[in-house]
Amino acid sequence: MLSLDFHPAGRHFLQIPGPSPVPDRILRAMSYPTIDHRGPEFGALGRKVLAGIKQIFKTEHPVIIYPASGTGAWEAALSNTMNPGDTVLMYETGHFATLWKTMAESLGLKPEFLGLPGIEGWRRGVQPDMIEARLRKDTGHAIRAVCVVHNETSTGVTSDIAAVRRAIDAAGHPALLMVDTISGLGSADYRHDEWGVDVSVSGSQKGLMLPPGISFNALSPKAIAASKAGGLPRSFWRWEEILESNKNGYWPYTPSTNLLYGLSEALDMIMGEGLDNVFARHQRLAEATRRAVRAWGLEIQCADPAVYSPVLTGVMMPEGVDADAVRKRIYERFDMSLGQALGKMKGRMFRIGHLGDCNDLTLMATLAGCEMGLKMSGVPVRESGVVAAMDYLGSHADTPALKAAA
Ligand code: PLP
Repeated sequence: MLSLDFHPAGRHFLQIPGPSPVPDRILRAMSYPTIDHRGPEFGALGRKVLAGIKQIFKTEHPVIIYPASGTGAWEAALSNTMNPGDTVLMYETGHFATLWKTMAESLGLKPEFLGLPGIEGWRRGVQPDMIEARLRKDTGHAIRAVCVVHNETSTGVTSDIAAVRRAIDAAGHPALLMVDTISGLGSADYRHDEWGVDVSVSGSQKGLMLPPGISFNALSPKAIAASKAGGLPRSFWRWEEILESNKNGYWPYTPSTNLLYGLSEALDMIMGEGLDNVFARHQRLAEATRRAVRAWGLEIQCADPAVYSPVLTGVMMPEGVDADAVRKRIYERFDMSLGQALGKMKGRMFRIGHLGDCNDLTLMATLAGCEMGLKMSGVPVRESGVVAAMDYLGSHADTPALKAAA
């Protein structure tokens, strides 16, 4: 039985792929007193975060901020744009894509689920040619939306969203493109406008380094028009009233004031570092992690190097090893949380999160905990992944920020 009186020395290592560790700067900002959400100071805060978050999505169009987890923003995307009984084309990249499909069913939509068979689909990103082929057959345009996950948090596999857009355009199909970038935004390159996304869905607790509790819908003019023309029965999620209040920096209901203080601070931190530097840092940490996994002699869950995730790495266990037992051992011995395998992969792999407020030394400690835990669990380790990662990080000043510091 876990005693709440016991507090291990040092910081807990929260190396799951979200929620990610919340930096002290953000925690302090969130401790400012809660203010009147209809008063003048709040309007200034609202206007700042509503403008700032657009830069992160790379959009000129409105971004809605909900006091809800990412699941709420999924529901908002579907319920504002789809009509009862509409067909939506969804793509199975992993557990989260599957959950979004289940939600579509429970909202009375008709999802069609494309994907590669077995776990193969969970090891590769979206195959745009499959989407194009399906849309070409839909000559009556019954499919109203294509829904894909940008960074599949359950596997560590990304998808090429620009290629999905090209597939829709090549088929000459008018379906909306909706993208879940809940774990991609703020860690992996994302371009709402340039990639022609109609609704991007995201959350606070991953690349934005905030606690869970707020989530986002970035919109396109076409998505806004669809919501004005129809939608599912909805109230809390309805964009229209929110967009109206947001014009002056307010919400039609009580927003999460303290999380918005945190968001304001997170935006300053991310823009201060520079979005490109943030993306390059994540790529570098991900590459070091993969080198460690290969040195251990273990397999990376993502089977296509073109779509490796910069956010997390899925580590497959050898046949007969229970990944959850390894994770438990690491948690109990080193006070480090790793991501458990979800859905189809249950017990077969664990996930190392290297997103958000993570640097070279955070990652080295994480990999050291993994390596010790693997050995303690009797998993054969070919050579030191820690040394492989150190060699890479120590000899590659390859991000713009590191080059400037060299
Ligand atoms: N989609 C993805 C890709 C996720 O990673 C998550 C959560 O981890 C969700 C959706 C669900 O978001 P939430 O748990 O914030 O409701």
